[in-house]
Amino acid sequence: MATLKVDHLAKSYPMAGESLHVLTDVSMELSGGDSLAIVGPSGCGKSTLLQILGTLDQPDSGSVLIDNANPFELNESQLAAFRGKQIGFIFQDHHLLPQLSVMENVLVPTLAVGKPSAEDLSRAGELLEAVGLASRTGHLPSELSGGERERVAIARALLMQPTLILADEPTGNLDRTTADSVTQLLLELQKSSGAILITVTHSDTLAAAMDSQRVLEDGKLV
Ligand code: ADP
Ligand code: MG
Repeated sequence: MATLKVDHLAKSYPMAGESLHVLTDVSMELSGGDSLAIVGPSGCGKSTLLQILGTLDQPDSGSVLIDNANPFELNESQLAAFRGKQIGFIFQDHHLLPQLSVMENVLVPTLAVGKPSAEDLSRAGELLEAVGLASRTGHLPSELSGGERERVAIARALLMQPTLILADEPTGNLDRTTADSVTQLLLELQKSSGAILITVTHSDTLAAAMDSQRVLEDGKLV
């Protein structure tokens, strides 16, 4: 089963004078199928925490174990491969590549390891079907609505069957009805894949849809 174990993470940013202590002591333990919302005011360190959990940034101290592996012990190319396999990211502004079709965007995570396999192609097709975009695979992101683009981003995040799905305000740009349906879809796919989902959000509705909610305050989860 997928596991995430975070112990006493701390992160500061150096500044003129004294440094800015963004995370002081963050610990959590989650396993496959769990979903967690992290809420807190702008600037409290939510994105910093998500970046570290996503192995895009290093903590100053503390540890992160994803399926019992410590990503920060890997070298750069091992870490890139680990990230591509174990972590799916979903961003507020979807980060789709504008010149690639819907299908190609979903397949982007496979490009890190070479050409997509027949299995990747069929899985991408199944995911696009699951998010209701089977008939739009050849379209460009600019030809889709905001909700549809977010659905493509969800399919892309799930392609490699990651241990950990990290979402930063995934419904931030969507109207309420679209946001609700995207949230339900994300949770459905996450539950059935057995991944762990961590969502950072300002939205009470999105937060309430997750299994548990924590507030990031003074660099700690309370
Ligand atoms: P949130 O996502 O909760 O709005 P962030 O994690 O983006 O908060 O930022 C937390 C704090 O750290 C903010 O005060 C921000 O200005 C600061 N910060 C974020 N990234 C950097 C950086 N690379 N260098 C210096 N300060 C940063
Ligand atoms: Mg942020």
